[in-house]
Amino acid sequence: MTTHEYDVAIVGAGTSGCYAAATIANAGLDAVIIERKDAEEAGHIACGDALKGADKFPSAIPKSKIEPAFTNTGVDHGRFEIPSHDTVLEIPVPGELAVIDRLKYGKLLIEGAEEAGAELHYDTVVNDVKQTDDGQVTGVVGKRKGDPVEYDAEVIIDGAGALSLLQDKADFEDATFDTNVRYSQFCSAYREIVEVDEEVEWDDALVFKPTERAAGYLWYFPRTSTEINAGLGFQMNEEPMQMIDDLKDDLRDREEFENAEVTDKLGAALPTRRTYDSAVAPGYMAVGDAAAHVNPTTGGGIAGAAYAGQYAAEQAVEAIEDGDVSEDALWHYNERVMEHFGARYAGLDVYNILSTAVDVDDLMGLLAALPGKKLAEALYDGKTSMGPLLAARTAINSFGYWRQILDFYKVKQVAEQVIDHYERYPSSPDALEAWQRQRDELMETVYDVTGAEPKY
Ligand SMILES: Cc1cc2nc3c(=O)[nH]c(=O)nc-3n(C[C@H](O)[C@H](O)[C@H](O)COP(=O)(O)OP(=O)(O)OC[C@H]3O[C@@H](n4cnc5c(N)ncnc54)[C@H](O)[C@@H]3O)c2cc1C
Repeated sequence: MTTHEYDVAIVGAGTSGCYAAATIANAGLDAVIIERKDAEEAGHIACGDALKGADKFPSAIPKSKIEPAFTNTGVDHGRFEIPSHDTVLEIPVPGELAVIDRLKYGKLLIEGAEEAGAELHYDTVVNDVKQTDDGQVTGVVGKRKGDPVEYDAEVIIDGAGALSLLQDKADFEDATFDTNVRYSQFCSAYREIVEVDEEVEWDDALVFKPTERAAGYLWYFPRTSTEINAGLGFQMNEEPMQMIDDLKDDLRDREEFENAEVTDKLGAALPTRRTYDSAVAPGYMAVGDAAAHVNPTTGGGIAGAAYAGQYAAEQAVEAIEDGDVSEDALWHYNERVMEHFGARYAGLDVYNILSTAVDVDDLMGLLAALPGKKLAEALYDGKTSMGPLLAARTAINSFGYWRQILDFYKVKQVAEQVIDHYERYPSSPDALEAWQRQRDELMETVYDVTGAEPKY
């Protein structure tokens, strides 16, 4: 058994792991990223390649480092195709948006972490977590090309992505770490990179289209006007979709994809749930998909992963310098995540819950009736409001959907209450249980109003 020692060991060379490692190394501490893939494959991640908030990315890896991977910065709106209502909605997307060459971006991130001083150990699969009898995490165990290897560290940062194996292995019985995690809170997604002969007309838009069922959607994101990321996903509480066939069917129906060539295929799971209530345990922090730092309505998780990686690492540095890596000492990381996006994502999760309970036709009719700008606010902020004029126009457009609009209004109100509650996220672990109790009461109202099965 080879044993390595670092101040911080980070599992996973994805967005969250690279930002975490760069932050640790920038602070002058020893950081290693442990990655199961080999050097060539690392950074090749299943993704729609849409990077929202590209203008204000965290600083641990300079934006100039990753910018060469931004292949399309001319995208400024979403195009929602609703065939059942013969409608196309053009909806502005707030903030800067880029469609990226995901593999290039992944490689540049790893380079950025290395340039900051982090080490990369490829071909190393972590398969266990080291803990003391009282639950303190002290390291991880794995295999490098078949040989056993272990890493001892003051803090382990889990950036191993959705359904992280580390969380199955660790015992969090006495920690606040969120273990209320089930498959049904995830989405299964698949994408192909497709090259077309003629430039597509919608190279300034992210194209979305509902699948046959409410809890799924297809997307077409233009990396360039002739290179399209085409994919789809469905919520795992539904019957599995034949994703490859369903995508093929839709591609076949679109004339712009005639004679198209598929150059890459990849699929994976992603969390479509609220952010973990707590992503810390003694000596341990989870970041990115491993702690559900993903917008549960759009599936966008790159920005959340980057920020969480940096926030976790900043807290780890402070804790190590103070000689205390207890849950208390790491807690402030949870607060920063909730303040930045966790509260918003919890509100958006309410709409995700709604989407699992409503009829797809009703939902699409309602979407077709709502003003685009308001829809954009609901999608990205979780909060939206309407003046009387707009409300009247919406009511006229939405004749036939007033019942749903009333229900939607009730859902919106409870979503806002959820966000308000998250804005009161506790400042220490002792107060978490009481806060969770109150949140769970609000969730009862969410299930009542939406008619959905409990998700948590
Ligand atoms: C099909 C699809 C489309 C998506 N589209 C978008 C999009 O358009 N825009 C967007 O913002 N987000 C999108 N997302 C979500 C986004 O890809 C993720 O939120 C983001 O990649 C999370 O980064 P991460 O660093 O947390 O995890 P990941 O990027 O998943 O990285 C985890 C890393 O850990 C490694 N690893 C895992 N287990 C181990 C182990 N046991 N030992 C060692 N290494 C391990 C993996 O090999 C991987 O390199 C999409 C996701 C999917 C699946």
